[in-house]
Amino acid sequence: MKPAAARGLLLSSLCLALCCRGGARGSPTSSDNHEWKKLIMVHHWPVTVCKEVEKDCRDPPDYWTIHGLWPDRAEECNGSWPFNFEEIKDLLPEMKMYWPDVIHPLNHSHFWKHEWEKHGTCAAQLDALNSQKKYFGGSLGLYEKLELNSILQKLGIKPSINYYQISDIKDALASMYGVVPKVQCLPPKQGEEVQTIGQIELCFTKDLRLRNCTEPGELGESGRAWGPGLEVCEDGPAFYPPPPQSAR
Ligand code: 5GP
Repeated sequence: MKPAAARGLLLSSLCLALCCRGGARGSPTSSDNHEWKKLIMVHHWPVTVCKEVEKDCRDPPDYWTIHGLWPDRAEECNGSWPFNFEEIKDLLPEMKMYWPDVIHPLNHSHFWKHEWEKHGTCAAQLDALNSQKKYFGGSLGLYEKLELNSILQKLGIKPSINYYQISDIKDALASMYGVVPKVQCLPPKQGEEVQTIGQIELCFTKDLRLRNCTEPGELGESGRAWGPGLEVCEDGPAFYPPPPQSAR
């Protein structure tokens, strides 16, 4: 797929994805007063998640999975809206496949509860995401439409024992999506030569259009890290680790 075609397809289908998945009533119009400014679709690389928490996950997925759909600030959140698994039961097969708890693969719902309470209850300010079914269904829809796994494949960016330049990955993704992503890494541990790629973030406006993750004047690339060990990747080489069974 050519970059321009990919972009057109993405932009025209992202809203559709939300409407179909979560039963949204249409484009969000009553959400202009909330203070958070963007939604961040956070993909993580399961091999790196296991490395980050120093857990020997036996069989982590060998594809990028969803960490979460996060407003950029925890504002306008409804802290008294409990997670209710029943509401997303219909989504279970896709949730397990694309939004697994990589660290606790036998009990995913703790992770989903955490994501709902920390991020979903804030995102739910948007009409398009204002129920658990819409939040999780809408996130799955965005993930599927973004097609990060196949886009990386098409770009020839595959897990490898050879290192990548972070700028090459960012530039390649930017050319496909038409917006600048944010890439998070684990800094090198003792004895390691380079950082390890951990998360790829793609950002959306409140009306669910792709936008640059960082705009001029916003907190820059050296801003906040999302996980305990993750930081915005340094420009330079990075390791994209193969799953354990195929590591050679
Ligand atoms: P947040 O709390 O903002 O959603 O994300 C950061 C936290 O999520 C970090 O503590 C990180 O270790 C944790 N995390 C990342 N991936 C997973 C996962 O697959 N399962 C669980 N249980 N925690 C995760």
